[in-house]
Amino acid sequence: MARYTGPSCRLCRREGKKLFLKGDRCYTDKCAVTKRATAPGQHGARRGKLSNYGLQLREKQMVKRAYGVIEGQFRETYERANKLNGITGDNLLRLLELRLDNVVFRMGMASSRKEARQLVNHGHFTLNGKKADIPSMTLSVGDIVAVKEGSLSSEKFKSLQEKAAQAPKWIQADIEKLAGKVIALPDREDIDLPIEEHLIIELYSR
Ligand code: SF4
Repeated sequence: MARYTGPSCRLCRREGKKLFLKGDRCYTDKCAVTKRATAPGQHGARRGKLSNYGLQLREKQMVKRAYGVIEGQFRETYERANKLNGITGDNLLRLLELRLDNVVFRMGMASSRKEARQLVNHGHFTLNGKKADIPSMTLSVGDIVAVKEGSLSSEKFKSLQEKAAQAPKWIQADIEKLAGKVIALPDREDIDLPIEEHLIIELYSR
C-alpha cells in the first residue's frame, strides 16, 4: 500500500505542530519543530493566512499524518464514523484510537505509531490469542492485545515493561505478560493531540 516514506519531521513542520512521529527524539531539543517551527521549503517562513478551506484541509492532513493513515483509509474511517450514533468527530477519533497499531503504541510497546505499525506488520502481536498483523484492525471493548510468545524473550520487548505501565485508562495493561485489554472506549479527553475535529467534518461535508 502506498505510504509516505519521506522525512517524518518534515510532516510536523508542514503542520506547524509536533505529531510525535519519531519516538523518543520528539521529547528532546533535537525536535525539528522546536528548532525551526516554519513550514519546509524555500518559502516556508512566508506562508500567509489560510482560508477556511485551507484550515480544514490542514487539520485533516495533520490527523492523517499523526495516525499514519492514507487518504482512502481516512475517508473510509470518516464514513464509518458518520454512520455511528453520536458525534461524528468523536466517533472518528475513537475509531482512529482503536486501530491495532495505535493500541500497541498506547500500551507503550512502541515509541511511535510508525514503529507500532512495523511491529504489528512483522507479526509480533496477537489479538485474543490469535495472530494479528493488520495495523488498521479496529478493536472493541474486551479485546486483548499481547506480544506473541515467541517475541517475549526479545530484548526489545523485555525492556518495555516499565513503559507498559503508562497505558491510558481505557487500556488495562498486564505488565508481566506484555499485554493489554481494551476495557472501555476512549473518551474525547483521552486523546492528547490538539485536534479540532469539527474542521475535518466540515471539510468532508462540503
Ligand atoms: Fe520530528 Fe518528532 Fe519533532 Fe515531529 S515531533 S518534528 S517527528 S522530532
